[in-house]
Amino acid sequence: MLQNFLTLLLGSKHERDLKELVPIVQRINALEPEAMALAEADFPVRTAEFKRRIAGGESLDVLLPEAYALAREAARRKLGERLFDVQLMGGVVLHKGKIVEMKTGEGKTLASVPSAYLNSLTGAGVHIITVNDYLAERDAAWMGPIYSLLGVSVGVILSQMDNAQRKESYARDITYGTNNEFGFDYLRDNMCWSPAEKVQRGHAFSIVDEIDNILIDEARTPLIISGMAEDDTFKFAEVNKLVDQLVECEKDPATGAYPEGNVDSAGDFKLEEKNKRVTFTDQGMNAIEGLLLKRGLIRDSLFIDENFEYIHYFTQALRAHKLFNKDVDYVLQDGKVQIVDEFTGRILYGRRYSEGLHQAIEAKERIKIAQRNRTLATITFQNYFRMYGKLAGMTGTADTEAQEFSKIYNLDVVVIPTNRPVIRDDTDDVIYLTEEEKLAAICDEIQQLHTKGQPVLVGTISIEKSEVLSRMLVGRGIRHEVLNAKNHAREALIISEAGAEGSVTIATNMAGRGTDIKLGGNAEFRARRKAGTQGTADQYSAAIAVEYPKWQADYQVVKSVGGLHVLGTERHEARRIDNQLRGRSGRQGDPGSSRFYISLDDDLMRLFGGENIKGLMSRFGMKKGEPIVHPWLNNSIAKAQTKVEERNFEIRKHLLEYDDVLNEQRKFIYARRDEIISDPRLTERVIATGEELWAVIFEKYAHSGENRSAKVAALLAELRESLFFDPQLGAEELAALPAEELDATIRGGLRRNIEEKAGEIGEELLNRFIMAEYLRSIDSRWQDHLENLEALREAVSLRAYSQKNPLLEYKLEGFQIFDEMLYEIKTAIARKIFKVRIQKAPVQHGPSARAPLALQASHSAMGQFTAPSSHSALAASAPAGGGVAAISMKQNASQPEAAQVKRTTAKVGRNDPCPCGSGKKYKYCHGQ
Ligand code: ADP
Ligand code: MG
Repeated sequence: MLQNFLTLLLGSKHERDLKELVPIVQRINALEPEAMALAEADFPVRTAEFKRRIAGGESLDVLLPEAYALAREAARRKLGERLFDVQLMGGVVLHKGKIVEMKTGEGKTLASVPSAYLNSLTGAGVHIITVNDYLAERDAAWMGPIYSLLGVSVGVILSQMDNAQRKESYARDITYGTNNEFGFDYLRDNMCWSPAEKVQRGHAFSIVDEIDNILIDEARTPLIISGMAEDDTFKFAEVNKLVDQLVECEKDPATGAYPEGNVDSAGDFKLEEKNKRVTFTDQGMNAIEGLLLKRGLIRDSLFIDENFEYIHYFTQALRAHKLFNKDVDYVLQDGKVQIVDEFTGRILYGRRYSEGLHQAIEAKERIKIAQRNRTLATITFQNYFRMYGKLAGMTGTADTEAQEFSKIYNLDVVVIPTNRPVIRDDTDDVIYLTEEEKLAAICDEIQQLHTKGQPVLVGTISIEKSEVLSRMLVGRGIRHEVLNAKNHAREALIISEAGAEGSVTIATNMAGRGTDIKLGGNAEFRARRKAGTQGTADQYSAAIAVEYPKWQADYQVVKSVGGLHVLGTERHEARRIDNQLRGRSGRQGDPGSSRFYISLDDDLMRLFGGENIKGLMSRFGMKKGEPIVHPWLNNSIAKAQTKVEERNFEIRKHLLEYDDVLNEQRKFIYARRDEIISDPRLTERVIATGEELWAVIFEKYAHSGENRSAKVAALLAELRESLFFDPQLGAEELAALPAEELDATIRGGLRRNIEEKAGEIGEELLNRFIMAEYLRSIDSRWQDHLENLEALREAVSLRAYSQKNPLLEYKLEGFQIFDEMLYEIKTAIARKIFKVRIQKAPVQHGPSARAPLALQASHSAMGQFTAPSSHSALAASAPAGGGVAAISMKQNASQPEAAQVKRTTAKVGRNDPCPCGSGKKYKYCHGQ
């Protein structure tokens, strides 16, 4: 009651939204005569002037009416379509960074042009996201003449494009492309080896077409770039057999430590239990070489490039054998090595040791050495699109999901009325007892409409069901088309004819977006087909002159039989998707109708309908083959749908909550990476880390006992171990120095060490070397980290049973392992650089390639009524009480497969120079 009263007083949100827009549209309208009076050459001049005004500090909001009036006039001249006032309203909403709901066929493609134009004037780039490549290309080409008259540039990103082409497209004022391509480009940009390789130039403003599809339907699975590393499992196995033959250095029986000083005691390697590190003596290196030669694993010296990697395998094998113990550091369970948390003693299921140690332990324990396809980078659409400074979207169906858009993306939904009233007749659902009866009834209905000449669009929820229905129609001799998501261009052609007299088109919910269905078919498509794709403009005009009048007649016929009828063979998991299907009919004031068919066998009814439906059906005395139509049923179906919608919202929210942890870390790592690829003085970082490590040693020194020479000896040993650094002064001289001077001496020595190296090979080369090491280290550890987080996510979900909050545990531990990783990266680099000895090698400045591996980019869409696999949100987010996790869903096998996007980027050849510029072959450098 109160609610009604307030609404009456204030107007509904929709009304208030519109009220705000009206005066702006009036201002644009008032400027129209002026724009109409312009010569074509004046348009780019105006654009240049707008840009100057922006540079002078004028806001886009102030410029909006002039820019929109100009864009509308450009559209009128170039496409012969003058934006309706409702399209201008939609365009204003987009500029404000909101979602605009405009029904199918209202002309959203055109409505987005003025806002894209206005925002491109800042020079920061506007991204327009479409659901597939076909539409990206179509829209860019279709709107192209308008932009071109205005004097702004347009580009398009297509999946088969190479980096150079992508970069060029991103450099344009306005860039069209799919969410997958934009997301993958972002990930790949953050795997590159120099700033010049990046293709994107920022994320200022994005307009997402069919935004509900992208941010809701596709948001349950992340984008993943994965790559299979070279299979080196046999090397782990071979080295594992040899490692026993190496001998540990002798320890001083009195101290239990290795002898101090620079004397290499007899033996092959030293262990450092505290840090779980291994170092080889020169003798050890020779021993390794001997073993490898004897075994025939190498032919030449160990110290040539291609054999050097064996030191790494031996290091890990020794660590596995000597420093990691079964049932202490790890356990064996179900044929897997599972790490034990050293502090809590808890098993960290699924977590793996990094840098090959895990495989070395597997070799030691003689269990199968895992060779895995690794996730190299991943992001969810939610987090990709939240990066944009301003995000806007458009769709025919956003209102039902307004709450989610507002909560998760902070996006407001504004509903724009249609240009002409919708007169489509949406009738109540009919419900049957079994699927069989339902399908028979559907076929009857289609046959009857088809005979009458009324076009029918039949919506199914899966490709399988489309096929079943298609076979039934073939049985009855009814000509029809079946749409699936495999070929977008052909799909567009079919859809454009779906409104022709007597046509029957079967489509799954994924299909049929983006092209609108005109009654009587599509004269332009027909003319284009007639003129041929290579046809000249004249040939096309001639064709359209014939086709257009034909179409006009067809249009009248189809209109007279009731326009397009939409027949839903099942309700979808969200009302929104039903509405999308319905919305294909009744565009721009055309007649039309829609009706959904339901059976109690449908997933929705079985899983969410509740028992009372069945009870009710029997009370109605439902007989075989007889349908029931009752408003009450529509009500309970809507309730069932709401249940599914809520559940899916929960899943997406949980996915996001977990992904937020990763997202923060990803941003941090990517920012760090960016700093590193553009830092010409990385030596300073190395020196700083060296000093940091030294400070820890010095701190210990300052607080240890009184015996100066013992103290200095310990200090020197630690310096060697930790930084492989030997100061020039001897132990005695150092012992004689006061503490501050000792500190200054070592610091100076550390700096000199690096500066000398820079002097020897040149600052630039050293810098490049450090950079390559950094990037390799960041990337490989980050990839390990991605796996570890994934494992952690599964692990914490189990803890829900012990009354712990899994998300909180995930956050805390996730941050902890991230911190450790950062420290590891930093110190490992510093150690390596201090340790490295410089040898001049011929440097090849080969062309640098972007991707260090054969990459595969994938995003699997979720099917109807499917839950993510146990690895992801649903399992991980299970609240202690059960809740969403209690629902187990039927997997729809066919759909995720059909929707998978896969692509392989150019591969760096194994024998090509490594992109890092080391001059080594790729396979011996970062391709290892
Ligand atoms: P939506 O994306 O909203 O479903 P589209 O952008 O595909 O709609 O446009 C549907 C049809 O409407 C297209 O054929 C387009 O040419 C036409 N159209 C759009 N705006 C106008 C306009 N202002 N005047 C005339 N036709 C228009
Ligand atoms: Mg569209």
